[in-house]
Amino acid sequence: MILLKSLTLFTLLLLASPQVSAHPLALHLKARRNDAVTTTTPLYTRDAQSPLLDSANSTAHNASKSVHTLQDLYVGNSNFRKNARLSAAEVAEEAPSFMFLGCVDNRVSPAAIFNAPAGSIMSHNNIGNQYSAKDPSADAAIAYAIEHAHVQHVIVLGHYGCKGVEAAITQSSTTTSLVRAWVKPISHLYARTRRREIVILRDSRMPRRGLPDGIKTAPPASDAGFRALVEENVKQAVKTLRKNSILTTAYSRRAMKTAVPSVDVFVHGLVYDEVTGEVHDLHVSFGPPGKAIPDVPFAAVAAAKNFHRDSFRPGINRGKTWDFGSHESH
Ligand SMILES: [Zn+2]
Repeated sequence: MILLKSLTLFTLLLLASPQVSAHPLALHLKARRNDAVTTTTPLYTRDAQSPLLDSANSTAHNASKSVHTLQDLYVGNSNFRKNARLSAAEVAEEAPSFMFLGCVDNRVSPAAIFNAPAGSIMSHNNIGNQYSAKDPSADAAIAYAIEHAHVQHVIVLGHYGCKGVEAAITQSSTTTSLVRAWVKPISHLYARTRRREIVILRDSRMPRRGLPDGIKTAPPASDAGFRALVEENVKQAVKTLRKNSILTTAYSRRAMKTAVPSVDVFVHGLVYDEVTGEVHDLHVSFGPPGKAIPDVPFAAVAAAKNFHRDSFRPGINRGKTWDFGSHESH
């Protein structure tokens, strides 16, 4: 039943085309901020009363209710218009600093994860937060973000438990073929990577005596190999962005001083943990040649452990279990 629900979700997500969200006013904004790291939400803090605080509370209040019907959406929009619209419009007049390349399956939006006001963050999503130079939609979104909205950071945001990465591991015939085709690059990564946790996961699922078809069920989100593949997938997207993307061209134009304005955008790879709410840095940031990369304040991702809490993988579930609450103490 859960699998069926997941598949239905995937189908719906696939049908929803990738999109860029930002206020059109961003197009006309030329103002740049000097500090690339710390000025994302100047009007909004948890500690100080600000015009946006009420709207944030209102959003949180609405968010505490389930939204399942069109009527729920209508009521939510009515509340938004009453409480938060003016503040959101105010935020949208600021130049956005961040563009996220995320996953459609991550239903916790970057704005929610980073407690940022609505309208302050641009995003482009696809299944498994992938980037390919052959994906004109992603390239157009990034080009728009850097050339017109003048964002300062492009962030690839993965998330543990990603259903796209899960589909790449299981390659289940019950997953719609469109999704299987889309996550094929992640399947290739899974098949060829030498990262130890992923090798263990891969080997554990192989056909063997008493299990001629191998393991076809999805690994739990806590599986170290699954988590490692989520991380490697983010790294892969950042690597491809570095090697072959609209950014490569933008950096060349910057070096030749033909880019107006100069493109000083940085790229980072982060991963979000849906269990703890924490965001970790994968240490793959890059920026224009010769330009110092700003410090990324998020803690480095803890090394995934080669042990598992599940008993269906004999021989590899020795030792301690993964403890979501204590990454940083390991
Ligand atoms: Zn995902």
